[in-house]
Amino acid sequence: MFDNGRRLRRGHRLGLASLLVSVLVAVSSGQPVYAANLGSEPTLPYAQPGNTSLPRAGCDTTATDPKNPPVNSPAAVQVIYAWNDSTGNQYAANVENAARVVDRVDWLLDQASDYDQHFTFSCRSTTTSTYNQYAQAMVTSEKIDTPSTDFWSIANELAAKGYDDSNRWYVVLTEFAAPSASAHWCPTSGGSGCVSIVEAWDSGVVGHEMAHLLGAGHAYMTEHVWQDSSGSWQAEQYCPDIMMCAGDWWAFDMGYRQNYDPSETSARFYVDNYPSTTTNNAAVHPLLTSPVCCDVGANNDLLTAQERTIEAQVPGTSNPTGFTTSGSGATISVTPQGSYTGVSARYFDNRRSLQFVSSPQPAEKSVMVSRRPSVTVGHNYKFYVRLRADSGTAALRMRWYNSGGTLLSTSTSSWFGLTSNWWEWSHEAVAPANAATVQISVVAPAGGSQPATLTMHVDTLQLTDCSANQNSLCRPST
Ligand SMILES: [Zn+2]
Repeated sequence: MFDNGRRLRRGHRLGLASLLVSVLVAVSSGQPVYAANLGSEPTLPYAQPGNTSLPRAGCDTTATDPKNPPVNSPAAVQVIYAWNDSTGNQYAANVENAARVVDRVDWLLDQASDYDQHFTFSCRSTTTSTYNQYAQAMVTSEKIDTPSTDFWSIANELAAKGYDDSNRWYVVLTEFAAPSASAHWCPTSGGSGCVSIVEAWDSGVVGHEMAHLLGAGHAYMTEHVWQDSSGSWQAEQYCPDIMMCAGDWWAFDMGYRQNYDPSETSARFYVDNYPSTTTNNAAVHPLLTSPVCCDVGANNDLLTAQERTIEAQVPGTSNPTGFTTSGSGATISVTPQGSYTGVSARYFDNRRSLQFVSSPQPAEKSVMVSRRPSVTVGHNYKFYVRLRADSGTAALRMRWYNSGGTLLSTSTSSWFGLTSNWWEWSHEAVAPANAATVQISVVAPAGGSQPATLTMHVDTLQLTDCSANQNSLCRPST
């Protein structure tokens, strides 16, 4: 659904809903969860803080009348509690719950990386001494006159009632059964229709929808899709973050590989499936404060955007910037454009990846990130990468160098069989004494079970310093 270049995205009932059976099942099945019915907060990659240690997210700017913010008011979120005749107005009972969920969304954005970054929230009042006063200042109340579970019915009614300021993005928490969880993509400006509507008051779901408001797409990047014997499309799903598994995961693109790169704000990602060519980087959204390094959270600055996702060059480009091969007969290119279901894998046709071809085997070949990122002795590093091939064997390698460029030691993972799915693999090692830099590579080992010509696709590289700070994330592979 297109509307002025902005699209409605639904958290639970996507266009490919039949493929996405594992997505958000925790919040889309069983009894609906409204308003005060909290308690289903996501706990991965680690448990969220309790209410008493949760920072307040707002108030960053003031609009006494939320429908008429001052001229030149900064871009900000307006949180709306919505009720109707069937539910009655339960604002007094639930306003603190609404504020708490929004506080958690702001917390999770900040914690997803080691950059300090926050949403900007508008409040009605500067009287915020108690939590209840703060919650009442941040969350306004609005009755929805026309009972409906249709997103646009609610969004249009809110716009007609005055929630249409171009410097406002509206986050609506409903007392009633709303259109599950939905949001409109508004990556550059707010106003009429720039709304997320959520009935499940849970920071995973609300955060997922607020990420859509920022222009973030689902993390389809790793989806393996095939037709079964009856011709029905089937898919496997991963849970890389809040954009695929908001029921379990609160973290938002902590690998800077899909929607959000606070370390390189010029980077852009393809945020949706083929044939979409929409690109975005949520880290530069006007609703967000400028990202400032470094605080606690996942430390993923060790690679550049190009080294992570190879999106700076067009499909088919030979020897893409940032990568090198070793071993005779190994070549690399940006994976050529393919069919919807072709070898570059559905959903990768407009999202770049690296294609590594080597022949003949069995002599060892490898593809490496040319640059050697700096490391700290004794810190634990984890190298992640997604790989696919119809057949073949690979391993991950970390080679440690001293400040003079002399190789000190090498750590290589066990060999593993490649699959036609984009599984994520990882290898973890501690920087040894005197190490100054590390070179990461994917190796097609001699002696592995290799085809005559190995064609391997490589993408979403990530190198994490798991010891950089409190809550540095050495997450499991997904
Ligand atoms: Zn969604």
